[in-house]
Amino acid sequence: MPETHEIIIVGAGLSGLSAAHFLHSSAPGTDILILEQDGRPGGAVRSFSEHGYLAEWGPHGFLDNNPASRALLSETGLDRIAQKAPLGSFVRYVCHAGRLVQLPQSPFALLKTPLLSPLGKLRLLGDLFKKPRLEEQSVGQWAAYRFGPEILPLVDAAITGTFAGDYERLSIDGVMPGVRALEKEAGSVLKGLLRKKRGAGVLPAMTSFPLGMEQLITTLATGPNILYHSPVRAISRGNEAWEIHTGAKTYRAATVILALPVNRALTLLADHAPPLAALPTAGIATVALGFTDKAQVPFGFGYLAPERENRFAMGALFSTRMFPGRAPQGRVLMEALVGGRRHPERLELSDDELISRIYDDLRQLIPLPEPPCFSRVLRGDSGIPQLEMGYPALLAWKDSLEQELAGLHLCGFGWEGIGMNDMMKTAKMVADKILLQTGGKRPEPEVKPVYF
Ligand SMILES: Cc1cc2nc3c(=O)[nH]c(=O)nc-3n(C[C@H](O)[C@H](O)[C@H](O)COP(=O)(O)OP(=O)(O)OC[C@H]3O[C@@H](n4cnc5c(N)ncnc54)[C@H](O)[C@@H]3O)c2cc1C
Repeated sequence: MPETHEIIIVGAGLSGLSAAHFLHSSAPGTDILILEQDGRPGGAVRSFSEHGYLAEWGPHGFLDNNPASRALLSETGLDRIAQKAPLGSFVRYVCHAGRLVQLPQSPFALLKTPLLSPLGKLRLLGDLFKKPRLEEQSVGQWAAYRFGPEILPLVDAAITGTFAGDYERLSIDGVMPGVRALEKEAGSVLKGLLRKKRGAGVLPAMTSFPLGMEQLITTLATGPNILYHSPVRAISRGNEAWEIHTGAKTYRAATVILALPVNRALTLLADHAPPLAALPTAGIATVALGFTDKAQVPFGFGYLAPERENRFAMGALFSTRMFPGRAPQGRVLMEALVGGRRHPERLELSDDELISRIYDDLRQLIPLPEPPCFSRVLRGDSGIPQLEMGYPALLAWKDSLEQELAGLHLCGFGWEGIGMNDMMKTAKMVADKILLQTGGKRPEPEVKPVYF
């Protein structure tokens, strides 16, 4: 007889662990089993610690303005130890004509920036007079139409900082559904933002933890029943229950949550004719470099480099500026990011070559009188799903599949966004839907701050 549980979650990444947390916090006795293919939880979230340096294979932080992640932190007690870097007091930079220039922190600050010519700034206001185009467009087409072509390097920087992606391929409806809804509702993005601005509170803060992002995972993973080394190979609908097959065993549950990156879920659901076989993904390597305090790392989060600057790194985080405890006393840490949708070939280079190319790149932008005294290349297994043209059709397919197949729920990397907040929010939505049997309509898309 297959082993039976009330709910089976496939995947012990942030999505699966968050779903288990929200289910247990509302219904403590629920019998949940998580099946995880690896020997560790966390998926893309993984921290690196060596010789007093603390770096990240995957995410470096998330904004504290999302109700689901705030609830999760307060219910686990993590809010008491969370480290915060407020957007209001930390500047970000963009590489512009070979040097670092401070980024405008809000759409309105764009008007004062040296990054745009006076005509370019005037053209931003063209948004007020451009009728929304309803058809699917790339982020680049959409931004150029609404704000003029001069905005594109800044759009590129924002897209590089979130998706490591290509703004000419990503779908505006996939990437910024909230901004699109605002544009359609108000007739223009700026008009919509002006309306929203009334009542807007303080700027949010980037959040991490003393042991890095993995501390969120290890905390969440202490509660639920997780079976490691259990890759799910197939799922099928039996009599009133789902059957979940690992290589070794079959499990049964009335409710199954696939908390997986889109492509992994699509493999398990291939019989249901998805409109796309897979989404493209963008691989990234983090090159962590430690320096003595002679390195003159500017104040702020870090910088991003638009493609037209022809830099080797997509950007770098000024890790010791953002959060305490990222390097030993008297040392500073920077984490440069390389690869992405446009340059997968760079990930083929050896560690030594990556370190040397990144150091050369960084020292043209930042005074670094000495070579790094510490270096590591962190190559994660996860690629960032690219919500490119055609993605909205995939999302519509997911919605109708969940309607059609009772007891099946999807959340995870690339469904409803790619950021950690998106994952925690969607996991909460799925948990609420299961517990309340609401029928689960997706909530209104939110207008997120642009996260460089
Ligand atoms: C390099 C990088 C940098 C990032 N930076 C940021 C950032 O700064 N801020 C931010 O908000 N977000 C960032 N993200 C995104 C963030 O990491 C993701 O939103 C989040 O980790 C996704 O969690 P998940 O659980 O949905 O997926 P995953 O982390 O991919 O977890 C899925 C889990 O499922 C398991 N699994 C897969 N297939 C099976 C199977 N068949 N059977 C059983 N188990 C299976 C995997 O082993 C894994 O443990 C970044 C991502 C990457 C890759």
